Amino acid sequence: MSRSPYLTKSLFKLALECETKLFYAKKKEYPDQKIDDSFLESLAEGGFQVGELAKMYHPGGVEVAYGSYDDMINQTNELLKKDKVIIYEATIRYNNLLIRADVLVKDGNIVDLIEVKAKSFDGTDSDAFLNKKGKLSSGWKEYVYDVAFQKLVLMKAFPNFKIRAYLCLADKNKTASVEGLNQNFLLVRKNGRTGAIVKSGLKKEDLGEEILIKVNVDEILANIYNGNDFTESNIMSFENWVYFLADQYAYDMKIMTVIHSKCKQCEFRCTKEEEKIGLKSGFKECWREQAGFADSDFEKPMMLDLWNFRQKDAMIENRKYLLEDLTKDDIKYDLNGDRGMSTTERQWLQIQKAINNDPEPEIDVEGLKAEMKTWIYPLHFIDFETTAVAIPFHKGMRPYEGIAFQYSHHIVYNDGTIEHKGQYLNTKRGEFPNFEFVRNLKKELEGDDGTIFRYHNHENTYLNMIYQQLNRADKKEVPYKKALMEWIKTITHSTGKSAEEWCGERDMVDLYKVVKDFYYDPMMGGSISLKAVLPAALNSSKYLQNKYSKPIYGASGGIKSLNYVNQVWLKLDNNGKVISPYKQLPPMFENIDTDALDLLVSDENLADGGAAMTAYSRMQFSEMTDIESQEIQKALLKYCELDTLAMVMIWEFFEKDL
Ligand code: SF4
Repeated sequence: MSRSPYLTKSLFKLALECETKLFYAKKKEYPDQKIDDSFLESLAEGGFQVGELAKMYHPGGVEVAYGSYDDMINQTNELLKKDKVIIYEATIRYNNLLIRADVLVKDGNIVDLIEVKAKSFDGTDSDAFLNKKGKLSSGWKEYVYDVAFQKLVLMKAFPNFKIRAYLCLADKNKTASVEGLNQNFLLVRKNGRTGAIVKSGLKKEDLGEEILIKVNVDEILANIYNGNDFTESNIMSFENWVYFLADQYAYDMKIMTVIHSKCKQCEFRCTKEEEKIGLKSGFKECWREQAGFADSDFEKPMMLDLWNFRQKDAMIENRKYLLEDLTKDDIKYDLNGDRGMSTTERQWLQIQKAINNDPEPEIDVEGLKAEMKTWIYPLHFIDFETTAVAIPFHKGMRPYEGIAFQYSHHIVYNDGTIEHKGQYLNTKRGEFPNFEFVRNLKKELEGDDGTIFRYHNHENTYLNMIYQQLNRADKKEVPYKKALMEWIKTITHSTGKSAEEWCGERDMVDLYKVVKDFYYDPMMGGSISLKAVLPAALNSSKYLQNKYSKPIYGASGGIKSLNYVNQVWLKLDNNGKVISPYKQLPPMFENIDTDALDLLVSDENLADGGAAMTAYSRMQFSEMTDIESQEIQKALLKYCELDTLAMVMIWEFFEKDL
C-alpha cells in the first residue's frame, strides 16, 4: 500500500498506539508483521457487517464511491451542498488531515457524525466510557479519540456546521427480534477491497428492533479539546497535537516516543531472513536509539519477554532492559505460591536459565506426582473453538453472544490406550450450534467419572455462558434444557458473572495451571500456551520422541485418530531441535501465517483461537465453493485435534518420563 499524503483515521489510530510508528508505517523498507488484510480483519471483528447494518438504520443515504482522494472529496463536497442529506463514507479533508466518516446526517447546518464500531456496549449513555474518577477510561480511549479526530477535521473543514458526534455500538442489552439478522450481510472482496453485500430487497422494517446504540460523545470530546481530559501531551492541546502528528508524518520526521512495555507487541520487526535482504526493523532502530542497544544485545533475552511481569515500564525507566539486568528485588521474589512454583519463582527461573544459558527444564516432580495421583481414569482432554459475532444469527440473541462451534476430545484409558474419541464441528451458515454442541459433549463425557482436562479458563467460561443461554431458552424449543444445565454444573465451577454459585464434583482440571505450577522449560520463554509447551515437552521427553517418531498416529494398531493417517509428529530441524507439530500443519488460509491470524484476536484467553474463529466467520459471512468449505473444515478438524493431542502428550511426558 502506498504512503498516503494525509494523516488519515487509521494513521491517527496508529499514532495513538505509539507516535514513532508513524515514521515506519507504509514504508517498504520497514516490514509490518501485522496482517494488512481488511477482509480477514473484518472476519475477526465483524466491522463491515456492522457498518452496513448502521447504514440500514439510516436509510436513503448516498455512498461516496471509492476512488482517488480528490474524487471522493469532491463527491462529498457536492453532496454537502444539499440542505438535507445522508452520506456514507463522507470524505473530508482539512489541510493534511483526512477522514472517511461512516455516516453523516445533514439537516440544514446540523450535522450528525456517526462512527460505527463492531464493539459491544453495556450502558445507556457516555458515562459508560468514563472511569471512577470521571475521566475517559483506557478501554474506550481509542474509540473516543477516533471520533475526536474526525469531529475536529469536520469542524475545521466546515466551521459553519453545528456538529454532533456519536459512537454507534452493538448494544449488549438488546436482543434480535428477527431470525437470521446476520445472514443479511455477506462479506466480499472485490478488486482487492473488502465490503459487505446486503441481501437484495432488504428493508429497514425487516431488521426488527435495532441492536445498535448511538451514544453522543460531545461532552467527552469537549473535555478532550479543552485539555481537561487529554493525556497524550503535556505541552500541546489535542488540536495542536493532531497538527503536530500530521506535520511530522508529512515531512517524514520520526517522533521519538520513550520505549515502553508495549514495544513487545510492536509490528515493525524483521525476521532474520528479511534483515538479510536489507529490510529494516523499526523495533531495533528504536531500541538502538533509546536503550543504546548494540547488535549483540538483541541476541540476549529481553526483560520484555519475562512471563506475567507487570513492572516492565518501571524497569525501562531504570534502564533495565535485559533479563540479566533484573534482580530478585526487582521482581519482588517470594516463595508463597499456593502449590508448586509461585509466580516470582517461575519468573526467577526464567531469568536464571536465560542468563546461564541453561536449557534444562525444571519440574517439581514431587508436587506434580502428588497432583497426578488425584486424577481418575479414563482421562478426558477437551478443547473448544468459539466465536462471538456482533450481529446475532438468531432471534432472541444479543450482540456478541458466544458461539461454540467446535470441540475435540481425546481419551486416555486406564491401560494407557489413547484415542481421539470424539469431535464436533458445526459451520452451517446461520445455525446456532451451542445446545447441540453441549448435548454431544455430554454424551461423550457422561459415561464415566474420569478427570476432564481443559487448557486455561476458556472451556469453563463458555460452559457457564451456555448454561445461561439454556436458562433463557424456551423449554418448548429446548425440551432437554434442564438435563444439560444440571450436567454443565457437574463439570464446571460458576464464574463471577453467574447469579448462582456452584463447584461441580467433577470440575475440570486446568492443565495450564498444572504446567504453570510445576513445569518450566527455557524453550517456553515467557509463554505457557500450548504452542509453547508442546515443543518443549517433545524436546525433553525421550518417551515422546521414541513414540511419535514413528507413523503410529492414525495408523491401524496405533493411536486412533479421526483426522490423521499414519502421522509422524516428531520432526527435527537442522540443529536437531524439534519442529513444533503446529508448524507441520498446512496454513488455515493459503499464504497466511496461522500464528499471525491468531494475533488478530486480542483476547488473551483465546490466544490460540484466532485462526479457527476467522475460519468459522469466513464460512458464515462470505461466499465460498463447497470445495473451499470442505478444505477449511478439514483444517479446522486437524487443528483442534492437535490441541487435545498436545494436552495428551504433555500428560504422557509427566507420566512416562518423570
Ligand atoms: S519499538 Fe516501541 S517505540 Fe518503537 S515504534 Fe515500536 S512500539 Fe513504538
